[in-house]
Amino acid sequence: MHQMTLAEIARGLADKKFSSEELTKVLLARVTQLDPQLNSFISLTEELAIEQAKAADARRANGESGALLGAPIAHKDLFCTQGIRTSCGSKMLDNFKAPYDATVVAKLAAAGAVTLGKTNMDEFAMGSANESSWYGAVKNPWNLEHVPGGSSGGSAAAVAARLLPAATATDTGGSIRQPAAFTNLTGLKPTYGRVSRWGMIAYASSLDQGGPLARTAEDCAILLQGMAGFDQNDSTSIDEPVPDYSASLGDSLQGLRIGVPKEYFSAGLDPRIAELIQNSIKELQKLGAVIKEISLPNMQHAIPAYYVIAPAEASSNLSRFDGVRFGHRCEQPKDLIDLYKRSRGEGFGPEVQRRIMVGAYALSAGYYDAYYLKAQKIRRLVKNDFMAAFNEVDIILGPTTPNPAWKLGAKNSDPVAAYLEDVYTITANLAGLPGLSMPAGFVDGLPVGVQLLAPYFQEGRLLNVAHQYQLHTDWHTRTPQGF
Ligand code: GLN
Repeated sequence: MHQMTLAEIARGLADKKFSSEELTKVLLARVTQLDPQLNSFISLTEELAIEQAKAADARRANGESGALLGAPIAHKDLFCTQGIRTSCGSKMLDNFKAPYDATVVAKLAAAGAVTLGKTNMDEFAMGSANESSWYGAVKNPWNLEHVPGGSSGGSAAAVAARLLPAATATDTGGSIRQPAAFTNLTGLKPTYGRVSRWGMIAYASSLDQGGPLARTAEDCAILLQGMAGFDQNDSTSIDEPVPDYSASLGDSLQGLRIGVPKEYFSAGLDPRIAELIQNSIKELQKLGAVIKEISLPNMQHAIPAYYVIAPAEASSNLSRFDGVRFGHRCEQPKDLIDLYKRSRGEGFGPEVQRRIMVGAYALSAGYYDAYYLKAQKIRRLVKNDFMAAFNEVDIILGPTTPNPAWKLGAKNSDPVAAYLEDVYTITANLAGLPGLSMPAGFVDGLPVGVQLLAPYFQEGRLLNVAHQYQLHTDWHTRTPQGF
């Protein structure tokens, strides 16, 4: 039962082969049995899950239908869930029960999705390995000595290990696509503004975007359908109609123009990954796609720009955690300054503190122009590169990451080494574009992802290309041993 995709679950529920309650119980038992190896959940919401499953079964019995009605999922622990701990992977919010549901959580609940729990993540979504979580590192089900990627590492490990079919995640600089690549999943970061950020604890507000993590493009289409749409509570949410993402999955790729940036195949890319990417290109050519070499000349400046802008926004967003209204408060503060200092010093881990300091520095008088303003100018150049490229091609294809998942602890003493691994993913966030990662093969038994990028609001095109590729390849069907 645990091997089923969301699409298969929807068919099984519609055909009354099993109930949502039965399936939910099977999956909850699997989480209890297998998750101690992975640490992919921070909180399990067993009672809520059973209650939601029963309600979904009752709605189906009353004649209602829907792809998500009775489908078990989990939420990354930065989506606020009313009355349930929403920790953001931090000691700072270990005691925080959100007073309301995030829009994404509310929309999926209304569609009938069943919440099994809240998944582990890098603290405040800062990281690429899920090792900065206050709740401990998450293990990669493909090799328990390796990281699952981050920051949505808990969602990725849980879905890859077949503890559940799909989960929500967020992507500020790659945190949906990179863990998808590291765990053999399909993950989609939508266009900035497509999915509401209301109730999503902010890391870098101009870059953050929620999206689906699942095993197939078909399932990403189902989950995105439930997440996307205008929300008046989010001032950056965009009031555009949401297309039917499942409807375009079957379109032919005949004549599709795929751009492959020459900058992607530089010395930093593992040659074994380069080969797998070339194989995926050949596969898509067989399906009728036309390949064109393109150039993204400002790509080399994207990492430094991102690692100024994201910490700058984080330093501002995280100033609200001051030990006064919510979150961790130190014992017996001497005065107000002592309260602030010790509450923040105790509540935030080292990576979060590092970024707050970098961000505050980049924003301070005298340095603002040299760092923040400069980074914003680079951001515009990165976007312009994409706009020029999309005049010539329909999608852009390349690797999701330069290397496969590294060993736990391998990059802990050198944060910049980890930052460099984001080179292929962060440009989409700087430009606000949608991006998808899908399974493309294995290196030393570890999964490798291929990334597709599309123009604004062309999530349907990404899902279509990925679905067609998945109809002709079987990488996405491989299951990690022991799960
Ligand atoms: N690795 C990037 C960072 O640490 C991206 C994280 C994310 O997308 N949340 O900022």
